[in-house]
Amino acid sequence: MSRQAAGRVLWLTGLSGAGKSTLASALHQELLSAGISTELLDGDAVRENLSKGLGFSKEDRDTNVRRIGFVAGLLARHGVTVLVSAISPYEDTRREVLSKLPNAVEIFVDAPLETVTERDVKGLYLKAIAGEIAHFTGVSDPYEAPSTPDLHLRTDRLNVAECLELLRPLAGLRTEVTA
Ligand code: ADP
Repeated sequence: MSRQAAGRVLWLTGLSGAGKSTLASALHQELLSAGISTELLDGDAVRENLSKGLGFSKEDRDTNVRRIGFVAGLLARHGVTVLVSAISPYEDTRREVLSKLPNAVEIFVDAPLETVTERDVKGLYLKAIAGEIAHFTGVSDPYEAPSTPDLHLRTDRLNVAECLELLRPLAGLRTEVTA
Protein backbone atom coordinates (compact mmCIF):
# COMPACT_ATOMS: atom_id res chain seq x y z
CA MET A 1 0.00 0.00 0.00
CA SER A 2 1.46 3.37 -0.94
CA ARG A 3 1.74 5.86 1.86
CA GLN A 4 0.71 9.42 1.33
CA ALA A 5 2.82 12.17 2.88
CA ALA A 6 1.15 13.57 5.99
CA GLY A 7 -0.61 16.87 5.46
CA ARG A 8 0.54 19.91 7.35
CA VAL A 9 -1.33 21.01 10.44
CA LEU A 10 -1.22 24.72 11.26
CA TRP A 11 -2.46 25.16 14.80
CA LEU A 12 -3.45 28.75 15.55
CA THR A 13 -3.77 29.48 19.26
CA GLY A 14 -4.54 32.78 20.99
CA LEU A 15 -7.12 34.86 22.79
CA SER A 16 -10.61 35.36 21.42
CA GLY A 17 -10.41 38.24 18.95
CA ALA A 18 -6.67 37.85 18.37
CA GLY A 19 -7.27 37.02 14.69
CA LYS A 20 -7.17 33.21 14.47
CA SER A 21 -10.36 32.75 12.41
CA THR A 22 -9.63 35.72 10.16
CA LEU A 23 -6.18 34.37 9.28
CA ALA A 24 -7.19 30.70 9.09
CA SER A 25 -10.12 31.37 6.78
CA ALA A 26 -8.08 33.65 4.50
CA LEU A 27 -5.40 30.98 4.28
CA HIS A 28 -8.05 28.33 3.68
CA GLN A 29 -9.36 30.30 0.69
CA GLU A 30 -5.83 30.65 -0.70
CA LEU A 31 -5.19 26.92 -0.34
CA LEU A 32 -8.48 26.11 -2.06
CA SER A 33 -7.62 28.51 -4.90
CA ALA A 34 -4.25 26.80 -5.25
CA GLY A 35 -6.00 23.43 -5.56
CA ILE A 36 -4.56 22.13 -2.28
CA SER A 37 -6.73 19.79 -0.28
CA THR A 38 -7.50 21.60 2.95
CA GLU A 39 -9.87 21.67 5.90
CA LEU A 40 -10.59 24.27 8.53
CA LEU A 41 -11.27 23.23 12.13
CA ASP A 42 -12.64 26.33 13.79
CA GLY A 43 -13.10 26.33 17.55
CA ASP A 44 -16.58 27.84 17.48
CA ALA A 45 -17.84 25.42 14.83
CA VAL A 46 -16.29 22.46 16.66
CA ARG A 47 -18.02 23.49 19.89
CA GLU A 48 -21.36 23.59 18.07
CA ASN A 49 -20.90 20.11 16.68
CA LEU A 50 -18.14 17.71 17.69
CA SER A 51 -17.82 19.18 21.19
CA LYS A 52 -21.42 20.22 21.76
CA GLY A 53 -22.21 20.11 25.45
CA LEU A 54 -18.67 20.69 26.65
CA GLY A 55 -18.08 23.61 28.98
CA PHE A 56 -15.08 25.72 29.85
CA SER A 57 -13.44 23.90 32.76
CA LYS A 58 -9.85 22.86 32.15
CA GLU A 59 -11.03 19.30 31.69
CA ASP A 60 -13.62 20.22 29.05
CA ARG A 61 -11.27 22.60 27.26
CA ASP A 62 -8.63 19.86 27.15
CA THR A 63 -11.18 17.35 25.83
CA ASN A 64 -12.13 19.84 23.12
CA VAL A 65 -8.49 20.35 22.11
CA ARG A 66 -7.81 16.59 22.09
CA ARG A 67 -10.85 16.00 19.85
CA ILE A 68 -9.67 18.67 17.44
CA GLY A 69 -6.21 17.08 17.45
CA PHE A 70 -7.70 13.66 16.75
CA VAL A 71 -9.68 14.89 13.75
CA ALA A 72 -6.71 16.93 12.50
CA GLY A 73 -4.62 13.76 12.63
CA LEU A 74 -7.16 11.77 10.61
CA LEU A 75 -7.31 14.45 7.95
CA ALA A 76 -3.55 14.98 7.84
CA ARG A 77 -3.06 11.25 7.39
CA HIS A 78 -4.84 11.62 4.05
CA GLY A 79 -2.62 14.48 2.96
CA VAL A 80 -5.05 17.25 3.85
CA THR A 81 -3.60 20.59 5.00
CA VAL A 82 -5.43 21.29 8.24
CA LEU A 83 -5.95 24.75 9.69
CA VAL A 84 -6.94 24.75 13.35
CA SER A 85 -8.28 27.93 14.84
CA ALA A 86 -8.96 27.39 18.52
CA ILE A 87 -8.06 29.28 21.71
CA SER A 88 -6.48 26.08 23.11
CA PRO A 89 -5.35 27.87 26.27
CA TYR A 90 -3.29 25.21 28.06
CA GLU A 91 0.30 24.73 27.04
CA ASP A 92 0.63 21.15 28.31
CA THR A 93 -2.38 19.95 26.33
CA ARG A 94 -1.35 21.80 23.17
CA ARG A 95 2.13 20.24 23.44
CA GLU A 96 0.64 16.79 23.99
CA VAL A 97 -1.70 17.05 21.01
CA LEU A 98 0.79 18.71 18.65
CA SER A 99 3.47 16.16 19.49
CA LYS A 100 1.21 13.38 18.16
CA LEU A 101 0.82 15.10 14.79
CA PRO A 102 3.70 14.37 12.42
CA ASN A 103 3.73 17.63 10.51
CA ALA A 104 2.30 20.26 12.86
CA VAL A 105 3.33 23.80 13.67
CA GLU A 106 2.17 25.98 16.54
CA ILE A 107 1.27 29.54 15.62
CA PHE A 108 0.75 32.06 18.39
CA VAL A 109 -1.80 34.63 17.18
CA ASP A 110 -1.08 37.31 19.71
CA ALA A 111 -2.66 40.63 20.54
CA PRO A 112 -2.68 42.20 24.01
CA LEU A 113 -5.80 42.13 26.11
CA GLU A 114 -6.30 45.89 25.55
CA THR A 115 -6.40 45.33 21.78
CA VAL A 116 -8.79 42.39 21.83
CA THR A 117 -11.00 44.27 24.30
CA GLU A 118 -11.08 47.26 21.97
CA ARG A 119 -11.89 45.00 19.01
CA ASP A 120 -14.44 43.05 21.07
CA VAL A 121 -15.39 41.15 17.90
CA LYS A 122 -18.11 39.12 19.59
CA GLY A 123 -19.05 41.71 22.20
CA LEU A 124 -17.91 39.39 24.98
CA TYR A 125 -14.94 41.15 26.60
CA LEU A 126 -16.92 43.98 28.14
CA LYS A 127 -19.37 41.46 29.55
CA ALA A 128 -16.53 39.30 30.85
CA ILE A 129 -14.80 42.29 32.45
CA ALA A 130 -18.12 43.25 34.04
CA GLY A 131 -18.18 39.78 35.59
CA GLU A 132 -21.11 38.60 33.48
CA ILE A 133 -19.23 35.69 31.87
CA ALA A 134 -17.37 33.20 34.00
CA HIS A 135 -14.37 31.32 32.62
CA PHE A 136 -13.63 33.82 29.88
CA THR A 137 -10.10 33.28 28.58
CA GLY A 138 -7.76 36.15 29.32
CA VAL A 139 -10.17 37.77 31.78
CA SER A 140 -11.49 35.18 34.20
CA ASP A 141 -9.76 32.05 32.87
CA PRO A 142 -6.09 31.37 32.07
CA TYR A 143 -4.36 31.67 28.74
CA GLU A 144 -0.93 30.08 28.67
CA ALA A 145 1.05 31.61 25.83
CA PRO A 146 3.20 29.17 23.85
CA SER A 147 6.79 29.27 25.12
CA THR A 148 8.31 28.11 21.82
CA PRO A 149 5.84 28.77 18.99
CA ASP A 150 6.96 28.07 15.43
CA LEU A 151 5.55 31.46 14.50
CA HIS A 152 4.58 34.38 16.71
CA LEU A 153 2.26 36.88 15.05
CA ARG A 154 1.57 40.18 16.81
CA THR A 155 -1.70 41.11 15.14
CA ASP A 156 -1.72 44.52 16.84
CA ARG A 157 1.49 45.36 14.94
CA LEU A 158 1.07 43.45 11.67
CA ASN A 159 -1.92 43.73 9.41
CA VAL A 160 -3.71 40.72 7.92
CA ALA A 161 -1.70 40.83 4.68
CA GLU A 162 1.59 40.88 6.59
CA CYS A 163 0.51 37.96 8.75
CA LEU A 164 -0.51 35.98 5.66
CA GLU A 165 2.94 36.59 4.13
CA LEU A 166 4.47 34.86 7.14
CA LEU A 167 1.89 32.06 7.21
CA ARG A 168 2.02 31.05 3.55
CA PRO A 169 5.33 29.16 3.67
CA LEU A 170 4.10 27.15 6.66
CA ALA A 171 1.03 26.17 4.64
CA GLY A 172 3.16 25.17 1.66
CA LEU A 173 2.11 28.19 -0.38
CA ARG A 174 4.42 30.49 -2.30
CA THR A 175 5.14 33.75 -0.53
CA GLU A 176 4.46 36.25 -3.26
CA VAL A 177 1.00 37.72 -3.48
CA THR A 178 -0.67 37.41 -6.86
CA ALA A 179 -2.26 40.67 -7.88
P1 ADP B 1 -10.40 34.96 16.80
O1 ADP B 1 -10.71 33.94 15.75
O2 ADP B 1 -8.97 34.86 17.28
O3 ADP B 1 -11.38 35.00 17.91
P2 ADP B 1 -11.25 36.87 14.82
O4 ADP B 1 -10.46 36.47 13.62
O5 ADP B 1 -12.68 36.41 14.91
O6 ADP B 1 -10.45 36.40 16.13
O7 ADP B 1 -11.23 38.45 14.99
C1 ADP B 1 -10.04 39.22 14.84
C2 ADP B 1 -10.41 40.67 14.50
O8 ADP B 1 -9.20 41.43 14.45
C3 ADP B 1 -11.08 40.80 13.15
O9 ADP B 1 -12.05 41.81 13.24
C4 ADP B 1 -9.92 41.23 12.24
O10 ADP B 1 -10.35 42.00 11.14
C5 ADP B 1 -9.08 42.07 13.19
N1 ADP B 1 -7.64 42.13 12.85
C6 ADP B 1 -6.88 43.25 12.83
N2 ADP B 1 -5.61 42.98 12.49
C7 ADP B 1 -5.55 41.64 12.30
C8 ADP B 1 -4.48 40.77 11.92
N3 ADP B 1 -3.24 41.19 11.69
N4 ADP B 1 -4.77 39.46 11.81
C9 ADP B 1 -6.03 38.99 12.05
N5 ADP B 1 -7.07 39.78 12.40
C10 ADP B 1 -6.84 41.10 12.53
